[in-house]
Amino acid sequence: MDKYDKVFELAKNRGFIWPSFEIYGGASGFYDYGPLGATLKRKIEDEWRRFYCVGEGFYEIEAPTIGVEAIFEASGHVGGFADPMVTCEKCKESFRADHIVKETMEIPDGLKKEQLTDIIRKNAIKCPECGGPLGDVYDFNLMFQTWIGPGQKKKGYLRPETAQGMFVDFPRLLRFYREKLPFGVTQIGKSYRNEISPRQGVIRLREFTQAEAEVFVNPQFKSQHPNFNAVRELMLPLWDENAQLTNGPSTPMRVGVAVEKGTIANQYLAYYVALTYQFLVSVGIDEKKLRFRQHMCTERAHYATDCWDAEVFLDGLGWIEIVGIADRTSYDLTAHQKRSEVDLSVFIPFEKPMKVKKTVVTPDMKTIGPKFKGKAGKIMAALKAMKPEELDKPEVRLDIDGEEVVIESSLFKHETVEVDVNGENVVPHVVEPSYGVDRILYSVLDHAYDEEIVKDEERIVLRLDRKVAPITVAVLPLLGNDERLTARGVEIAKDLKGAGFFVEYDDSGTIGKRYRRNDEAGTPFCVTVDFDTVEKDGTVTVRDRDSMAQVRIPAADLSGLFGELLCTGKPLEGYGKKV
Ligand code: AMP
Repeated sequence: MDKYDKVFELAKNRGFIWPSFEIYGGASGFYDYGPLGATLKRKIEDEWRRFYCVGEGFYEIEAPTIGVEAIFEASGHVGGFADPMVTCEKCKESFRADHIVKETMEIPDGLKKEQLTDIIRKNAIKCPECGGPLGDVYDFNLMFQTWIGPGQKKKGYLRPETAQGMFVDFPRLLRFYREKLPFGVTQIGKSYRNEISPRQGVIRLREFTQAEAEVFVNPQFKSQHPNFNAVRELMLPLWDENAQLTNGPSTPMRVGVAVEKGTIANQYLAYYVALTYQFLVSVGIDEKKLRFRQHMCTERAHYATDCWDAEVFLDGLGWIEIVGIADRTSYDLTAHQKRSEVDLSVFIPFEKPMKVKKTVVTPDMKTIGPKFKGKAGKIMAALKAMKPEELDKPEVRLDIDGEEVVIESSLFKHETVEVDVNGENVVPHVVEPSYGVDRILYSVLDHAYDEEIVKDEERIVLRLDRKVAPITVAVLPLLGNDERLTARGVEIAKDLKGAGFFVEYDDSGTIGKRYRRNDEAGTPFCVTVDFDTVEKDGTVTVRDRDSMAQVRIPAADLSGLFGELLCTGKPLEGYGKKV
């Protein structure tokens, strides 16, 4: 068994992840989180909230997972959110065309469907299922379509990302944040993509969870993040465009240096790359298996100025993208502004009012009105929009609804005056860190998985970070059939639950088996209740999952101890009396 299979077996057997709808044969691209998996996911999301909602002060919102068609027309998803697909002419099975080609040869990302068809023909690539001939490559839109209400009058789509819900709420959010930039907003929730042939477990799902932040910023200040000094000296493993082109490795670089050298486009983007690094390490991603890959200009969306993916190394899968951090410029808000015809700009006051020359046109409405009747209003607006040099003529020619209208200079007066301008309207830019929670969760499991030989026996242990481990403490009476021990165990578990810890009480099987079970579930601490606890001094044994060190401490001190260990991450060995 390779490591991927081992991790997945453990995940299934210990109740982390299993295929959905199993009793009906399942469906690829859908997985359930079992009791431990759902708890782990919640704790990873809570840590994300600690970073973004508490740390950054970005409020979380909750928009529907179904959206009306206009949203996705404006965002470009209806027209362009597609993957290249190819279908076998013999068995009719469909595949991601670029994935099939990649199984035979190395190709860059982002090739067009015609290029992929060409490669398939030239290299005689056949159907991986039946060896039959493959047809031409075509675009397959990944969105799930639905109808809103009965009948087929109103088309809707399941959202392919949470981001759009935050863009379309922009006017209300701006008001909430008292009309001032910068501000951020977050959303954690399900997104849906009808992936062509999802394999690789929870890495490619048709229903998955995203945690996204949209940071709206005045483009003028993208290189002045207010908290940049907090991350300036942090070392990041960066794999920039040049290194990729020359097949070089990723190199550690300080965040501040990366911005000064222009490796990362601006301080805002760099700040969220840094925050992503800190978050991922905090939930248990191994920093030695983490890098940030810059998008090549060929794969970058045309509007994005710069984009970085956090990638992790997973055994059996290679380097996998788990977070994307992009500078999306004003693309999204401009697109929604155009489609909805709602102003999505922000008034940015100048520090001091600016003197600006302005042409004031006064039309002679007494003559223009009766003469041009219904067109008079449009004529007046057209005259007011003209430049002084265009007005300095014996007559001006206007295009009113496709018709030429001639206005003699006697029908208006114009003069240039100096006025005070207090500010300008700006469509904000958006910097977006977009996290795939399922991929992070799986990576956390993979990086935590460990095997070791202890006293000639193999021990499997999930070295999950204490804050995300689903169960923090297991309370185990030494013997499951001694009523004094079990009663005291239940009491201790109850006290710890009362103090807010995730606790499991377990009295079935030998103590060795129970330790093993908890090692595999990633439980950081086991508390063992024995005869000294009930007969002698009220102390219990606390065992550390990773070092297997054991210390003796009074049962009454347990909640204080675990509170401190969770908060500080300190080793257990510094507390109590060594056993
Ligand atoms: P994207 O909008 O494609 O940049 O996706 C943002 C993040 O969502 C990625 O970094 C992934 O972690 C996650 N993601 C995207 N597609 C899927 C999928 N089909 N299954 C699971 N996670 C996904």
